[in-house]
Amino acid sequence: MKPNTDAMLARRRKLLGPAYRLFYRNPVHLVRGEGVWLYDADGRKYLDMYNNVAHVGHCHAQVVEAVCKQMKLLNTHTRYLHGNVLDYAERLTGKFPRELDTAMFCCTGSEANELALRIARTCTGGTGIIVTEYAYHGNTKAIYEISTEDIPADEVPDYVVTVPRPDTYRGRYRGSDAGEKYAAHAHEALETLANRGIKPAAFIIDTIASSCGVVAPPPGYLRKCAEIIRAAGGIFIADEVQPGFGRTGRNFWGYQADSFIPDIVTMGKPMGNGHPLSAIVTRRELVQQFSTHGHYFNTFGGNPVSCAAGLAVLDVIEKENLQQNALRVGEHLTDGLRSLAKRHECIGEVRGTGLFLAVELVSDREARTPATELAATIVNDLRERGVLTGSIGPDDNILKLRPPMVISTSDADYMLDILDRSLADNAHAH
Ligand code: PMP
Repeated sequence: MKPNTDAMLARRRKLLGPAYRLFYRNPVHLVRGEGVWLYDADGRKYLDMYNNVAHVGHCHAQVVEAVCKQMKLLNTHTRYLHGNVLDYAERLTGKFPRELDTAMFCCTGSEANELALRIARTCTGGTGIIVTEYAYHGNTKAIYEISTEDIPADEVPDYVVTVPRPDTYRGRYRGSDAGEKYAAHAHEALETLANRGIKPAAFIIDTIASSCGVVAPPPGYLRKCAEIIRAAGGIFIADEVQPGFGRTGRNFWGYQADSFIPDIVTMGKPMGNGHPLSAIVTRRELVQQFSTHGHYFNTFGGNPVSCAAGLAVLDVIEKENLQQNALRVGEHLTDGLRSLAKRHECIGEVRGTGLFLAVELVSDREARTPATELAATIVNDLRERGVLTGSIGPDDNILKLRPPMVISTSDADYMLDILDRSLADNAHAH
């Protein structure tokens, strides 16, 4: 590592303490971004295959301008009248079916999920939450408790019950009825809650099941889980922090992969293209009931600058046809990855939808043995070759590809070529 990297690492350790983590064995010091490209302090460029926050591209001029313009004029909060929050709420709810007609704003995905759980608990009178194994929903206390990827098993409270990851590659159900079969585990979870004397409040899921490495649950799974929790008096929360805003290509929201309507949809990361902005969108009657228990205020949530960022992001998605781009480039990338799989035995499966793709690395195709070390080697090697990715899943053997939505087919080819070479140079060593 270079002297200035060493010095920065020492400063970080001293100033930020040991709880933070960096990506890559050789950390990247980024100073500038544009579109799908990131530049380090030495001017070296990297193809960003990982960031879903810079949704419409790093530092998109239209978003930057909208934020600067509003910042120069006024920034207050939702206790004053302002058109931006109304315009944005109108545009955002316009992206949902009629039933989901009310928006409430926060600053992070964790806060949005926290608010969703509060509403669920207030409106159902229950406390029990059903969540998938190895899920991530954020970092507040209530959300840490349901983030089964993070919380140690012996710390999980009684009112949180897990269901299996709906994994059709290495999980227990792999056929066309996998969605139904996995969803049936929600009945068992409800029984567990009942045995503990706990009334259910909600089933919550990241609709692309990304941190648990599933990346697109089997057909019918989400809809069936919603039916089961509702029949038990609970509500269904769709966490769209990762798949939302057109990333899945065919749809604007991940939950639309199944034909049903969630009770609460939570969203964040890509909403403000890097500006901290998050929200829930839900049915009026739930907010009506919730509001009888108190008012809602979030100092920064829904401020005029944040809403200007959100409006600009929606404008750019529409003007630049980014949902269609996600579909087109996503298919191109998937085809390219599948042809790499023909040459590289270590690729067990390529899956996902739009610009949310997973490449599962294995050391034995038949046995589907996770190639954890190889995945770490490839992620770090790609970084050295100028492509930024990451790995996910309980075995950390799945490459996650989730680039800004402005990626082109030639950028995708660039990445495929580098991945091809990285696999050729490294796979045999494992
Ligand atoms: N939900 C999901 C599915 C997420 O992936 C994340 C963040 N990785 C969150 C919620 C929490 O978002 P934030 O970090 O903005 O609090």
